[in-house]
Formats: sequence, structure tokens, C-alpha cells
Amino acid sequence: MPLFDYARASTIDEAIALLNDPRWVSRPLAGGTDLLVQVRHTKPNFQRLVDVSRIPAMRSVAREEGEIRIGAAVTYTELVESPLLCEHAACLVEAARLVGGPAIANTGTLGGNVGNGAACADGVPPLVCLDALAHVANSEGMRAVPVADLLLGPHQTALQPGDLITHFTFPLLPAGTRSVFLKIGRRNAQAIARLNVAVAGRLSADGRIEFVRVVPGSALPRLRRFTEVEDMLLGERPSTALFEAAGAAASRVMVAATGRRWSTDYKAIALQALVSRALRRVFRMQESNGTHAH
Ligand SMILES: Cc1cc2nc3c(=O)[nH]c(=O)nc-3n(C[C@H](O)[C@H](O)[C@H](O)COP(=O)(O)OP(=O)(O)OC[C@H]3O[C@@H](n4cnc5c(N)ncnc54)[C@H](O)[C@@H]3O)c2cc1C
Repeated sequence: MPLFDYARASTIDEAIALLNDPRWVSRPLAGGTDLLVQVRHTKPNFQRLVDVSRIPAMRSVAREEGEIRIGAAVTYTELVESPLLCEHAACLVEAARLVGGPAIANTGTLGGNVGNGAACADGVPPLVCLDALAHVANSEGMRAVPVADLLLGPHQTALQPGDLITHFTFPLLPAGTRSVFLKIGRRNAQAIARLNVAVAGRLSADGRIEFVRVVPGSALPRLRRFTEVEDMLLGERPSTALFEAAGAAASRVMVAATGRRWSTDYKAIALQALVSRALRRVFRMQESNGTHAH
């Protein structure tokens, strides 16, 4: 007897009907790069997979009025190849470029990355940094949830049985805002990051930081913007010393929330370096001497 059944949906309505069919315990399947790896190791807690990877409405990236819309079944390769995202969501494109190897990049999706709820998911910090909403459909209708609110803890999401993330939206960042993503992984191309960070920022006409968002991933039990670090940066002029202090502050926030454990010494130093480096890149400071690049 097969471990589970399989059904492919060709529209969102069909997927919702299949996912909410009371005769089966169903789960969405997108690229399968998390789900199919998991069922090799543990007995599935579902009876049927509903394949949503070929639903056209979940496969596109578009600009709509003042926002960008990304279908939940868009793959990492498609994120990297989108001129719209290269222009408006550099941090997300950089994260997608650093995911897995080519096979994972061609099949893994943004919706699956969020749906899987891993603390080290590379797609999540950029989405939170971009202030993205996840649009979730079920048999009752649609709801829009900030991505940060969807993630409750490692492998725990606020998604309910029968829910499907159809797409993400985020407002265009104001002109002049840059964003970056950096990660530290165990192994380069195939590594699942142990720490990552998405940062967005903009300087005012007189060279002060007037906009900044700092979102480390895999640092806290529940991912969020590090507003403590953002607050110490706002209104200041970029400098190496400021960004090193911001990195140290980020580490303190992490250690205060997680307490000390075997990995803390490494993670505290790594997060400090990662955050200060991301800030230097966002505010275009040269790595070597800390001066502004032109
Ligand atoms: C070798 C290897 C390397 C990897 N490298 C990285 C890496 O560098 N960075 C990284 O972040 N991840 C990495 N991963 C993990 C994985 O590839 C990503 O998390 C990927 O984005 C998962 O997407 P998927 O479409 O394959 O999801 P699936 O496996 O299809 O689904 C994952 C979970 O999300 C749910 N789901 C899927 N789509 C939806 C939806 N639209 N709405 C609601 N729930 C949904 C599923 O039910 C399931 O619970 C790697 C995995 C492997 C095997």
C-alpha cells in the first residue's frame, strides 16, 4: 500500500477543494524539497499530497500598483531571473541565489520555504525585511498575514489544515533604498544557513540613516526585526564604529533571548560580523577602510 495519495491541482479553487476534502488529511506539495526529504525519515502525518506547483496563478511575479506580487509556487531560479525583483527586492534575489544547488533552486519554492517553517529558511528574513504579507486561502476565503506572524517557532507555523499560501505581496521600497542578504552556512552551495541576515536602508540627503530594517534569521526562536538595533542606527551617520556597535547589539539581543548554549560563542561572533558587514554593504561602505564608496 502506498504511504500516501497524490493529487495535482490546476487552479487555486481546485487546490482549496482538495485540501479541504474531509475524507482525507491533505497537505500542499510544491517543490517537495523539504516534504519529500522528511517523509523519507518519518512516517507522514497526512494521507494525501496536493501538488500546487503547476497552478499558473501561483507561478508569476508582477508589479501591481505600489506593490510587488510573488506567487507562492515561484522557484528560487525564477526569483533570481525576475528583473522586477532584481530592481525592487535585491535581498530576496540574493537569498534565492544562495539557496541549495541548481536542483534545489529549480524546484524549491518561496511558499514551501515559509510553509516548512525552518528557523534557518533563507527566504524568510528577506520577506520580513520587505514587510511582506502572505495571502492565505482556505474554504472560508482569503486572509493576509504578515510573514513574521505566520512563523511561531522552529517548524511551527500559524497555517491551519486546509490553508494554502497563494502569494506574497510587499510595498515597493521608497526610491534610494537598498537591501542585501548575507548568510553563513556549514557548506557553501548545499548548506542550510545557520545564520543569515536581510538588511534594508536609505540615507537622507544630509547623509544620515533615515530608514533601516535589520532581520537576522536563525538567531531567535521566533524571527522578527531587530528594532533595538534599528533604533540605535536611525539618525546617525554611517561609520565602521557604528556598524560594529550595531553588530554587537544584535548579538546581545540574540543571547538575551536564547540564553547561552553550546553554539552561543560561535553564533554571537558570527552574527556580529554578519550584521555589521550587511550594514556596510547596504550603506555602500568599503570593507577595508570603512570609507564611503562612490
Ligand atoms: C540539498 C538541500 C539544500 C537546501 N538548501 C537550502 C538553503 O540553502 N536555504 C533554504 O532556505 N532552504 C534550503 N533547503 C530547504 C528547501 O529546499 C526549501 O525550504 C524550499 O524552499 C522548500 O520549498 P518546496 O517548494 O520544495 O517545499 P515543499 O517541500 O513542497 O513543502 C514544504 C512545506 O511547506 C508546505 N507548503 C508548500 N507550499 C505551500 C503553500 N503554497 N502554502 C502552504 N504550505 C505550503 C508543505 O505542505 C510542507 O509542509 C534545502 C533542501 C535540500 C534538500
